Amino acid sequence: MIKNKKSKSLIDTVLKLQDMGLNHGATGNCSCRDGDTYLITPSGIETKNLSEDKVIRMDFAGNIIDSIGNLKPSSEWRFHQDILSQRKEVGAVIHTHSIYASTFSLFGNELPPFHYMIAVAGGASVRCAPYAMFGTQELSDNIIDALVNRKACLIANHGLIAVGENLMEAFHIAEEIEHLCHLYIEAKKIGEPNLLNKKQMSDVIKRFQTYSQWTKD
Ligand SMILES: [Zn+2]
Repeated sequence: MIKNKKSKSLIDTVLKLQDMGLNHGATGNCSCRDGDTYLITPSGIETKNLSEDKVIRMDFAGNIIDSIGNLKPSSEWRFHQDILSQRKEVGAVIHTHSIYASTFSLFGNELPPFHYMIAVAGGASVRCAPYAMFGTQELSDNIIDALVNRKACLIANHGLIAVGENLMEAFHIAEEIEHLCHLYIEAKKIGEPNLLNKKQMSDVIKRFQTYSQWTKD
């Protein structure tokens, strides 16, 4: 694919996810909006073999616009496309099979407000989308529902999704939710953690709306 600033940002993000231990091998995938198209990582290529020219450009009808050789988009392109087309404020989508989020997803439960940083995803919980086969419209529909008023969700028996205005925001949210899943799993070994109440969480959500938590790229 013809390289640009967005394709560089996409590959930088994939490498950062690998460095932080959020992805392994060829798992996980990222996308970002670029005008009236979007860029997405290819299917089945290990991160160490990825480069900007292997990024794939798609349109919102699911057609490949630009790709080298016979590279195919990530098998999860459907939910990337549906999120980017239905959520106009979202500019980037990150999907990981990171260890703690994936472990917690095995139980199909939402992440409750046990820590104020849960509000980073936009609400008082991080929902878990019901399981459906990867790559299907059913899975994409479940994810769209779980992401209503949220910037992250878990996917049952699968992993994590984080979205943002840009790749940097989506990355920070993915990293934070993974950390929160780790904390919650540790807490549950001791007992039942105290939860913050509705007022406490809505105060944090309001506070988060008034300042940027990270530099925008
Ligand atoms: Zn996946």
